[in-house]
Amino acid sequence: MAESIGKLPVWLKRRFKTGETYSHTRDVLNSLGLETICTNANCPNIGECWSRGTATVLISGNVCTRNCRFCSVAAGRPEPPDPDEPRRVAQMARRLNLKYLVITSVTRDDLPDGGAAHFRNVVNRCRREIPDMRFELLVPDFRDGQDDAIKILAEAVPFVFAHNVETVPSLYPKVRAGADYNLSLDLLRRAKQAYPDIQTKSSIMLGLGESDTEVINVLKDLRRARCDRIAIGQYLRPDKDAVSVVKFISPDKFDWWHKKAESLGFSWVMASPFTRSSFGAEKDNPENTKRPLNIP
Ligand code: SF4
Repeated sequence: MAESIGKLPVWLKRRFKTGETYSHTRDVLNSLGLETICTNANCPNIGECWSRGTATVLISGNVCTRNCRFCSVAAGRPEPPDPDEPRRVAQMARRLNLKYLVITSVTRDDLPDGGAAHFRNVVNRCRREIPDMRFELLVPDFRDGQDDAIKILAEAVPFVFAHNVETVPSLYPKVRAGADYNLSLDLLRRAKQAYPDIQTKSSIMLGLGESDTEVINVLKDLRRARCDRIAIGQYLRPDKDAVSVVKFISPDKFDWWHKKAESLGFSWVMASPFTRSSFGAEKDNPENTKRPLNIP
């Protein structure tokens, strides 16, 4: 069901949660000088996630070498990764008492390894200090260096290896111009071949003008790449430079997508208006989060 654009439908309106845990999360991140995708992407779930004491750390800086039109992360020429960042992330994990951490990065086409070694270093430093911690790495596509990146990341084998296709291939020129849909599928396929025992995951945003058939084809492509997990959420324009929302998808339709994804064989599915790839990532069974936690 489409709503008129410009008027936020009722299911996307909610109170911004704050409180003691929210403040603690914010203070820990600030005191360690860490970036998050939560703030850099203007994620609508910040109140929810930070109030649960969880955040998705953004490593290798907050300047991206690409300029995707759905994303509010700044584009430009980034600084080299900070060799002290692994220590600071480990400190954050300890201070927030995390058992599961999603780590992502900007795209680093400027680095020969695309930033893979920095991911590995962050994971290994955290593991040294918190051995039973689990990780989800939400990585860029590593463009020309997928094989090397996969070899490097083998030294940090994560619990979940995630890479987002973000949208249907026909919308790549408009939404994700610097990327290549097939390259993204290749990365997920290669990761599964290299690490058969780990879960792979992807995410897609709805409401950018895609058709249902196109989304179903993406889900099938992902399953052919042996992708295990899928997150399906509503695209919301993060800032005025980003592409506009074409359609608001109803919660009922997200329930339909949840069932559809399960029927196609995904073992872990989250589908709701506020689903983001890192939202509820730590849940082994996300069934109870397929609807927004907070519908008024
Ligand atoms: S959904 Fe992910 S990016 Fe958004 S606030 Fe939560 S942890 Fe951060």
